[in-house]
Parts: sequence; structure tokens; C-alpha cells
Amino acid sequence: MEWSDSALVLSLGRFRESDIWVRMLTRRHGIVSAFAFGGSRSRRRFAGCLDLFNELRISTRTTGNGLYLSLQEGMLVNGPRRLRNDWKRLGMLANCVRFMEALGVPPDGSVSAFSLLRDTLLLLEQARRVEELLPALFRLRLASEQGYVPSFGKCTVCGGPVVDWAGFFVTEGVVTCANCVSNRGIMIPLRAASLDVLRQVQETSPLHWKFAGDNPAEEEASGEKKVFLSPADRRECARAIDGFVQYHLGLVWDRGKFRRI
Ligand SMILES: [Zn+2]
Repeated sequence: MEWSDSALVLSLGRFRESDIWVRMLTRRHGIVSAFAFGGSRSRRRFAGCLDLFNELRISTRTTGNGLYLSLQEGMLVNGPRRLRNDWKRLGMLANCVRFMEALGVPPDGSVSAFSLLRDTLLLLEQARRVEELLPALFRLRLASEQGYVPSFGKCTVCGGPVVDWAGFFVTEGVVTCANCVSNRGIMIPLRAASLDVLRQVQETSPLHWKFAGDNPAEEEASGEKKVFLSPADRRECARAIDGFVQYHLGLVWDRGKFRRI
């Protein structure tokens, strides 16, 4: 069987003298591993392609009686530059990738997962400043796309809007307004600005998130309305997301990787 697709290189390594294995997120076939036979030698078939986080156009063939995937050809579509020299941003992206690998990409979630990771990569490559919470926000968006959708909108009890702050209930994945907060289990208080950010993350691509800016005055002058999070807001957002991810998806970050609990 042969197919072509768009792919992002997630990891790769050498085996034998001139062969390379590549793990990729593809647009239509989810996460796959393939062998590029002669990959470290063939400039014609893989010119400048086989490098971490490159976006490629690939063609593959199943070989060995359907046992493995062989990368026949790769064409470079886009490759990050800045990211390669920015360890902090590279670390953020690696964290996003580890989470995606731990959660898995179902066949019907492949297209949206591919867009999300590619847009996150572009954001990390291009943005002047990147919100520190980015990896946590990525987790929220990927979980939401796969059907684990916490609600950060109206109060679940009275249906009213959240004015100043709301209580987020991890097990139910809902918020209540300040008047309706009661004993419903683990509750994390979220300010209105935090709720605004979390809703944006669920609704739009990372390239359209409007909450990163290193200079409020400058951002205002540019005419774009952006939300600013305080360090306390960031902690609350991270607690809410990670509490939700742990409870509903069973994944925790432990010694450098995500682990099922
Ligand atoms: Zn209420």
C-alpha cells in the first residue's frame, strides 16, 4: 500500500549505517513511524528533510508483508529556524509533543491534531513573546478537541454570567459563579481573565490567541485587545487544566514524561 501525506517530524534516529527511523504526526494517518532506508545518504530523496519538527510532504509504502512503513520520498515544506536555537521554546514544544503521544491521536482526530501542532510550532517560531502557560493551554485544546471539554462559560447552577471570578470543579468540568459556589468537590477559583483565556484556547487556533504581550501599552496602541494574566492567574489556570487532565484523561507529568495513572 502506498500513500502520501503532510507530516511533522516528532523524533528520529539512525540505525545501521545509513538508515534513519522517523516518527511523525501526519495530517490524515495519525502518528506513524517509518524507515528511511539510505536516509543519511540520499540527498535526492530526502534533501534537507530529516530533521526535528520539519514539516514535510511525504510518500510512503508498506513493505515487509505489511510489517513496516518505508519512507520513499520527503519534500521540505517548512522548517523552524529560531526554535533550533531557543532551548526554552524547544522545551515547550517537546512537552506538547510528549503529551500528544501519551494521549494518542485517534483516526478521526488526526486532521485537527496536525493543525494544532503545526500552529503551535508556528507560534513558537514567530511570536515575539510566548505565554509561559503554552504547554498547559495546548493540553486543554487537544483534550477539548478529543471530546474532553470542560466548560468555562456560564454558571452551571444559575446560568448567569461570571462577573469577577468563578469556581471551577475538576470532576464535573464546570464552573459556578461566586454566588453559587458550594461543596461539589475539588474547586479551583478562576478570575474572569483566566476564564477568558481558557475559552479562547478552546475556540480558536494558537495563532489567534490574544493574550500574549510583553508590553500592555504597546499592545493597546496596536489596537488589539489582549488579556493579561498575573502569575497567580497562571498558577490557577495550570491547576485547573492539569486537574482536569489527570482526572478525566488519567495522565500526569512525572519525571520528564506523561504517565497514565
Ligand atoms: Zn450562579
